[in-house]
Amino acid sequence: MVRLLSAFIMIFKSLCRHAGIGANSYLLKTKTAKVVLDAGMHPKHEGSEAIPHYEFLQPGTADSIIITHSHLDHVGTLPVFLQNQAQAKVFLTPETAELASAMLHNSVNVMQSKRIEHGIAEYPLFEHRELDDIEDGFETRNIERPFDLDPAGSIRATFHDAGHILGSVGVTIEAEGKKIFYTGDVNFEHSTLQKGALFPEGTVDALIVETTRGEQARDPKYDRTTEEDEFAAAIKGVIERKGSVLIPVFAMGKTQEVLGMIHRFKKEGLIPKHTPVYIGGLSTKMTQVYDRFSTTSRRHLPNFRFLKDMELEAGSKKRKGPIPFHPGCIYALSSGMMSEKTVSNNFARQGVLENAKHGLFFVGYADPETPGGKIRIAKQGDSIVLDPAFPPVTLNCETRIFDFSGHSTREAILNFILKVAPKKTFLVHGDDGAVDWFRQQIKQHLPRTEVIIPEPGVEYEI
Ligand SMILES: [Zn+2]
Ligand SMILES: [Zn+2]
Repeated sequence: MVRLLSAFIMIFKSLCRHAGIGANSYLLKTKTAKVVLDAGMHPKHEGSEAIPHYEFLQPGTADSIIITHSHLDHVGTLPVFLQNQAQAKVFLTPETAELASAMLHNSVNVMQSKRIEHGIAEYPLFEHRELDDIEDGFETRNIERPFDLDPAGSIRATFHDAGHILGSVGVTIEAEGKKIFYTGDVNFEHSTLQKGALFPEGTVDALIVETTRGEQARDPKYDRTTEEDEFAAAIKGVIERKGSVLIPVFAMGKTQEVLGMIHRFKKEGLIPKHTPVYIGGLSTKMTQVYDRFSTTSRRHLPNFRFLKDMELEAGSKKRKGPIPFHPGCIYALSSGMMSEKTVSNNFARQGVLENAKHGLFFVGYADPETPGGKIRIAKQGDSIVLDPAFPPVTLNCETRIFDFSGHSTREAILNFILKVAPKKTFLVHGDDGAVDWFRQQIKQHLPRTEVIIPEPGVEYEI
């Protein structure tokens, strides 16, 4: 059979340097256009190891880059990418534009201190003034509005709400008569603030899909409201015995979800109405962005502004010095994994962990190698190193783990895959076991779908 001349093959290539959940970046190539999906920074590596393989792309050749959302594993090295691809247009939602700017500026500060503390000479990878120029060039696009990704209009994209954090999207890409869908990070279930993803369910030629929770079966008895109510009861218990609650959270996304829950708990009398709630400096900045989009974004609690409508003790430039530690308060502080030198780590080390009246409640993922991960698997009375620069501390406080993940269950993602019945599926953003579960399920339920776990730098036809 002779292939028709018009049927140029599209190419998919992973630019990720490491497998698993890391620095996400993928290339789509047509006869005339090159488009990159995401520009992540690896959370567990430093320096050049944390940067995707941008050298796989000839300088000055990318037409555009799409940023699906503002978590650093998707946007953390955008300025590095643009250093050799200054002509590339950056497409993202207005919400992601604002959150990403704040995240990247914070990242410069983090890299500057890592340069001093750990002697990483290549840090910072970019500077504040570089970011100002990049932000000026952002091409913001709203969901469900198709737009061109190249000057010739040969490749088009449409954003769809991914339900993961404010501004997060999955994207449909159409070119060469083919339809490709990239999920980014997705949550199909409603959260407290975030509404569940709204993705198109028509068939696609190729699907690039996240597999984060592929190793976790959802407890069939799980119910979000019940989980929230148990969280409220646990907080109430601590407050009543005059302890304080520490909730390690990511500044963006999880902080606002937790605030949304606390707002409901207070309104419904599940916890005392006047319990002071503290959030940290970067969280305050992120919450301001959430508040600015309270009327225009697709979300629950429309018009509700955290900083105005809740009595929050918010860390800001106005209040100098550390956040005070008092009994009977709720502290939703970053980082979510309690990394060394962060506020949640300091609070745990300087009072919370050793005192039985306090509570340390996890509401999201923590890598097993991080201080948060170590506490999650520890037993009462264990002594834990939270920061190697300080002596270990004994775990005496109440610890609980709640499931409020911003990622879809594997069952919901599989359900989506079955609906869009792709000819090819690229499994990304998951550990080996997670990817394996999806591979087996797809083989079983969609035997004609080709399943690909993309190797970095290898070109796959679409
Ligand atoms: Zn994410
Ligand atoms: Zn991610």
